[in-house]
Amino acid sequence: MTVTVLPPPDWRQVSTGLDPVPGRPNTFSAPDFDTLYDCPILIGDQEILTFEAAGRPHTVAAYDLGSVDRAKFTGDLKKIVEAAADLMGELPYRHYTFLVIGPGGGGLEHLNSTAVTLNPGSLGTPRGYQSWLCFIAHEYFHLFNVKAIRPVALGPFDYDRENYTNMLWFSEGVTVYYEFVLLNRAGLMTRDEVLERLGSTIADYENAPGRLHQSATLSSFDTWTGFFGRSEHAANTTISYYDIGCGLGLLLDLKIREASKGRSSLDDVMRTLYRTFYKDKKRGFTDREFRDVCERAAGVSLGEIFDVYATTVERWDYAKYLGYAGLAIDVEPRPVPGPWFGASTQDQNGNILVATVEPDSPASLAGLCAQDEILAIDGTRVAQRSFSGTLNAHKPGDKVKVLYARRGGVRETELVFGTKIERTFKITPLANVTAQQRALFDAWLLF
Ligand SMILES: [Zn+2]
Repeated sequence: MTVTVLPPPDWRQVSTGLDPVPGRPNTFSAPDFDTLYDCPILIGDQEILTFEAAGRPHTVAAYDLGSVDRAKFTGDLKKIVEAAADLMGELPYRHYTFLVIGPGGGGLEHLNSTAVTLNPGSLGTPRGYQSWLCFIAHEYFHLFNVKAIRPVALGPFDYDRENYTNMLWFSEGVTVYYEFVLLNRAGLMTRDEVLERLGSTIADYENAPGRLHQSATLSSFDTWTGFFGRSEHAANTTISYYDIGCGLGLLLDLKIREASKGRSSLDDVMRTLYRTFYKDKKRGFTDREFRDVCERAAGVSLGEIFDVYATTVERWDYAKYLGYAGLAIDVEPRPVPGPWFGASTQDQNGNILVATVEPDSPASLAGLCAQDEILAIDGTRVAQRSFSGTLNAHKPGDKVKVLYARRGGVRETELVFGTKIERTFKITPLANVTAQQRALFDAWLLF
């Protein structure tokens, strides 16, 4: 099938992953409906950058790149593409297009393109720029992990109904894990930075109240009913399969490397899944087939990871797995500096509405609930824009009177600020490591 785009006269660019039809301007072809549906088209006055990587042409079509250094940006993208090509052994496309569609949040992956949002102001710091590269690497790597390497439920799609799978922790979370691995191999993220980002990702799900209620597989399965349509209870009862899947990817990679004595890694799992299911069988894999590929790479049973960590809310033995690479992880509960209120709030027409209440927090003990409107603290009217400042002016142990409205009635309660206890999950090298631990670490992260 072919598509011809007729843009308004002052919209000079048409950008898409579809193949152009020679000799026919703004006309593109697709071999089937799924391919057509998988190729967004950006029409407008966007800036076009091009580069070649691993022998293939790549295009960046950007609504607004701000003041980012174009040569550095395309050079860094080239390194990421080449790191992915090295990992997987080939690139399964003839051309690839990065559609940078404007301010917002999020992106979507496709077989030979990705549509990503960008707030140019976020690129001003080295950390912000690196996070942007992580995000692009994530959407790019999805061309392998999710578009090609995929659970059976994720393609070919039945567009008429939900497509349930237990495996989004792998499809999304392990893609997060590979953001860091790819940037490290591309020379764009140091070992220390990888460990810092892994530790903070682990802290994000381990410190979330939902960690005690929802496993990685349940989080994956329930996404159709919960993840993107979050209710006020979601923050306390659910976790992100992006975050916990990254943790599972880390454990799988370290365990496979350790058990196989360095002969295999998660990279081999990715290559085997790609070759066996995408290229040979031309279908997705079942949960069991995925586990079999992992266990063959490791040469041992991975029951602890699959039967316990992925499917229950049991605590993980991080120290054991990180120890394989000569690393320690700080799992000691520690006080977080500053006063703990224990509820998040949102602005509703200038009013402060409680969005979520953490279990056993000061806000919870004071009886506050989601949807309560906070009117005053100690007799002084409060506003959303200055609310965090109001809270932070207190110290743990301070007592305040909170005036709030609930369902038309006005109530007052006493709240005692507390001290939040969290674990940092900061990952650091052990003081003394064996040659085997050192070798695993050196083979895993490059510099
Ligand atoms: Zn993703």
